[in-house]
Amino acid sequence: MDEVKRLPTSTRLNIKEQSWARRRIGLKPIKVVIRNCRICDVLFETVSERTCEDCKKRIDRSTVAALQGFEVI
Ligand SMILES: [Zn+2]
Repeated sequence: MDEVKRLPTSTRLNIKEQSWARRRIGLKPIKVVIRNCRICDVLFETVSERTCEDCKKRIDRSTVAALQGFEVI
């Protein structure tokens, strides 16, 4: 099986705390799932994203660059 990009520990703890709080008030806990990134196809852990962190950063950069009128190399 391919390597999975795990969530950072701080994010995981955050999710755990939020899940615990949600359960206490009768909501469904937050579920971490493993998905394929829709852009680079890498496996990654996420709560709701369909794009991995790396691709998201790339998209952010190219968006900013486009707004500034620079070409991304
Ligand atoms: Zn990706």
